[in-house]
Amino acid sequence: MQPKTQDSTENSSASFGFRTVERDSKEGLVRGVFSSVAGNYDIMNDLMSGGLHRLWKNDFVRRVHANTASNILDLAGGTGDIAVRLKARTGAPVTICDINHDMLKAGWARQFDSGEAEGLRWVCGNAEHLPVADQSLDVITIAFGLRNVTNIQQALNDAYRALKPGGHFLCLEFSKVSIPLLAKLYDSYSFHVIPKIGEWVAKDKDSYQYLVESIRMFPPQKELAAMMQKAGFGRVRYDNLTFGTVAIHQGWRI
Ligand code: SAM
Repeated sequence: MQPKTQDSTENSSASFGFRTVERDSKEGLVRGVFSSVAGNYDIMNDLMSGGLHRLWKNDFVRRVHANTASNILDLAGGTGDIAVRLKARTGAPVTICDINHDMLKAGWARQFDSGEAEGLRWVCGNAEHLPVADQSLDVITIAFGLRNVTNIQQALNDAYRALKPGGHFLCLEFSKVSIPLLAKLYDSYSFHVIPKIGEWVAKDKDSYQYLVESIRMFPPQKELAAMMQKAGFGRVRYDNLTFGTVAIHQGWRI
């Protein structure tokens, strides 16, 4: 039986997948997961999602207004999948901020090799305390990153702080599947197949077990929308993709 709550900001514990851990230790545990998966991160995304993650990411980036955004931060940007798409859509340079050096290194190498490195800036930093001035950004995106952050509300608050008035926040994240039969099939696939793929391809079952569990622990659509409103965002909305397997949340600093 999985535990019910995501991280509460009031107590000293946090969820690490289905485990409850000391709040202060979660960041290090998450860092360990992504250091371990960094080398196989991109191939594993294709294998686990059957390539669907590419369609979700394309759809996500299409919601950023083209040619208007100039100061863009892709948070928890990992190997740069979102940043490359943002650069192509807006024509503006994009800063990738991620807490994990190994993911940034893997991303830099990948984008350098594919000729995409120009216009990308790589910064190591924590979503809970962005290394940027107040009201300095036009757009902040975060894809498949927010569920790994220890204090999600703090990350939303800080994104709000960093956006200029009129600035746009977009989050792409796994969410709650809306059709019960599909949810059952998806659960079965997630818990029985994904850790096995992780074991065979990346030689790391535990990290993929964590990834699957962390999806189940993430606030569902309405709860996340309420947290965004609490952070101050206006015109908050969300759209489900693939029956809620993932959802795109958006909000503006008004
Ligand atoms: N956005 C990329 C994508 O969609 O392919 C990478 C997503 S990957 C599943 C999650 C990323 O979140 C990892 O690179 C991890 O290091 C990063 N991350 C986890 N906790 C973070 C935090 N507190 N602040 C910034 N990045 C974080």
